[in-house]
Order: sequence, then structure tokens, then C-alpha cells
Amino acid sequence: MSLLSVVVPCYNEQENVEDFYTEFIKNRDYFEKKEIDFEILYVNDGSKDDTVKEVKRLHERDERVHLISFSRNFGKEAAMYAGLQKSKGDYVVIMDADLQDPPSLLPEMFSSLEEGFDCVATRRVSRKGEPPIRSFFARRFYKLMKKISKTEIMDGARDYRLMTRQVVDAILSMEEYNRFTKGIFGWVGFETKWLEYENIERRKGETKWNFWKLLLYSIDGITAFSTMPLSIAAVVGILFCVISLFLVVFIIVRTVLFGDPVSGWPSLVCIISMISGVQLFCIGIVGQYLAKTYMEVKKRPIYLIREEV
Ligand code: UDP
Ligand code: MG
Repeated sequence: MSLLSVVVPCYNEQENVEDFYTEFIKNRDYFEKKEIDFEILYVNDGSKDDTVKEVKRLHERDERVHLISFSRNFGKEAAMYAGLQKSKGDYVVIMDADLQDPPSLLPEMFSSLEEGFDCVATRRVSRKGEPPIRSFFARRFYKLMKKISKTEIMDGARDYRLMTRQVVDAILSMEEYNRFTKGIFGWVGFETKWLEYENIERRKGETKWNFWKLLLYSIDGITAFSTMPLSIAAVVGILFCVISLFLVVFIIVRTVLFGDPVSGWPSLVCIISMISGVQLFCIGIVGQYLAKTYMEVKKRPIYLIREEV
């Protein structure tokens, strides 16, 4: 018998906890045939609703259901990390509670592992049902990441992944505080098979990500997996030095040839304000990295557990 651990991060998902279980259990026959036992780890990420109660109720019915409950909301990244740490399975799969990651795909994922892959990842090829600006910026983000990061980060990749123990241990060996899992998956490598599917809308409840949260998350992603912005800041600095050098020569030559009529106050103000803008922007970029380094150096725990069942 081999063991499959299912990690389900939950934040205010009371309506979905049971539905997820019901959908997942539909693969029962397949698991039996393949001699796969399973454990479902619901990671309650500081929900304010009855998620914990729902999971405990399920646990009473089926003791393969487990609960890891955080002391507050630490974010989905922390929830996935906790789930991976607590998982005991030979295989681990991460799935959203809202059934946007269809459990019906699992048999196909397993057969890919049998073909010799270490990891089966999924990506959605469409973003239907999502607000257009959100899709637009998401696409931009992936395009940008492709340019500025050496780590492969797939457009539309979901966190829905089936991994072997070896891959899970590799991911767990990355103990960074600023976790950007999509990048971490790419960074660890291994033979990965990609499955594609059309976007499925969330079953019940609503999305936990608003535009700002996603924007900040994308900045996390960039700073965690690329130092290109720092280089850009340096290049912009050099560029401005060169331009000003040319300007100095130009002004000296012009003064020698045509004298020095006092004029150009407005242009001077424009130049000063523009350059201070560029400077502040560059300092801001450095600040972003400094802030991340600061958080990293503190070595705070990624999550705190209040209760485990
Ligand atoms: N989630 C979480 N902590 C958070 C936000 C979300 O554990 O702070 C979970 C959430 O319960 C769900 C999954 O992460 O199971 C994906 O969240 P959601 O469906 O809101 O994101 P979307 O699918 O809209 O990108
Ligand atoms: Mg969702």
C-alpha cells in the first residue's frame, strides 16, 4: 500500500469542506484498484467561519481526515508549507478547497507518475469567469517573470500538483520566509508533466484574493525570484550619469561660444524633479529587497499551529 497525502488550504471555506471530501472520495475505486491509501489534511488558515467545525465533523466520520489549524491567517503559502511538512504520504497533492482543482483529474495524474515523472502539474488554459483586468495583469506578470527570472514560472500554473516524496522533501528544504510557491516549484526542477484544463469557477463562497492582494503577491514573486530590478536601478543610474556628462560638455561649449544668457529655469526644475523621481524609485526598489531581507533575517516561523486533530 502506498499513501497519498492531500493538502487542502482553507480560509473561510465552511461550505466547501464537505463538498470537497465528497468529490474527492469519488476516486475511491481507482485508489482501491491501485492500492493507494489516503489522508486529507485540511489546513485551516485562521478562518473566521465554521471551517474548523466542519472539518472536525468530517474527522468523526472518517479518520483519514485531519485538521491543522493556525493561530491566525498566515496566507495560502504558509498553509501549503504546513500541509507539506505534516504530510506523511509517498505522494502529496495540493488542492484548493473550492473545487477549482478537479479531483477527477487525479487518476490521469497518477498514470503520469507511473510513466516516470516526478511531478504532475496543472495549468489552466483559459481564465473565463475572471475579471478582465485581473487576467490582463496576470498575463503581464507571467510575461515579465519570463524575462527577468531564470526560474521557470508557467502562465496559468495552479498550485494543484501531485508530487513524489522526493519532490516534497526538495520543496521543504527551501525554508525561506517569503514563499512564492509557483517559483519554488520551478526552482526545484525535476521531471514535470503539465496537464491543461479549462478554468473552473469556484463552487461556493468567494475568492480570497482582491486586486491589491494579488499585486502585492506579484511583487513578492518578483523579489523572491529575480534580482533584475536591482540591476535595472543601477543601469538607470549609469544612464543618467552619462546623459548629464554630455549635458555638461554641451553647456560649457555653448557658454564659451555664445555667452551665458540666464534662462532655462523651467527646464531645470523639470530635470530636477524627474531625476529625483528616478532616484526615489530606485531607492524604493532597493527598499523592497531590503524589506524582504529584513523579514528573512528575523527567522520568524512561517506559521503557528493552534490545534491539530
Ligand atoms: N486560502 C488560504 N489562505 C488565504 C487565502 C486563500 O488558505 O489567505 C485558500 C482558499 O481557502 C482556497 C485556496 O487558498 O482553498 C485558493 O483561494 P481562492 O479560491 O480564494 O483563490 P482563487 O482560486 O480565486 O485564486
Ligand atoms: Mg479558488
